[in-house]
Amino acid sequence: MTVLRLVTGSANPHKVAEIEAILGGALRVELLPRPTSVPDVIEDAETLLGNARLKARAICDATGMAAVADDTGLFVHALDGAPGVHSARFAGSSATDDENCDRLLAELERVGATTSEARRAAFRTVAIVAFPDGSELWAEGRIDGEIAAQRQGNGGFGYDPLFVPHDATVSSLETFAELGVSEKNRISHRARAFTALADALRTRI
Ligand code: IMP
Repeated sequence: MTVLRLVTGSANPHKVAEIEAILGGALRVELLPRPTSVPDVIEDAETLLGNARLKARAICDATGMAAVADDTGLFVHALDGAPGVHSARFAGSSATDDENCDRLLAELERVGATTSEARRAAFRTVAIVAFPDGSELWAEGRIDGEIAAQRQGNGGFGYDPLFVPHDATVSSLETFAELGVSEKNRISHRARAFTALADALRTRI
């Protein structure tokens, strides 16, 4: 069976391990770290797909190898989809996870979103592979849920302490930060995006 060699856009070892586990379950894949000579890409596209594509294409162009990248956003109904594509910098260009969570709670209070219906939200991830011949394959994963009234749990990262996933297989009271890593990775937006991407890759190679 052919081994698909992919240079990854992520410098986060946890994310790389998660991606390798999902893609590796479906096909023979070898993930290579992004060379340090490839600088960070300015993610200034208006969509998750646009930003994921910018990252993958920059690495592919620099290395001459197929590259994999992803982009994630939290889309909150009562905020007209914000922070969405701007999730990483919702509270400012160098915002911490804590500051982003504070801003999210403040915005929901400002618009008077108190019911779980008003606090509906979804995490979405686009995962993409860019090939040296200019072609690409991409897939989107999504999990719906709601934003808790306050932080719950110590695990995870980002908006995890505020996001209660709606999935029949997990408690409807716990945030991502309260679920174990393997539970979260089983149902997460990123897992769904990379599982769908693995299916698409399998049909191509
Ligand atoms: P990125 O595209 O993975 O860099 O994520 C964009 C923003 O969404 C960052 O603020 C992340 O902290 C946040 N984010 C991404 N994935 C998750 C997740 O699984 N849980 C909570 N926050 C996340």
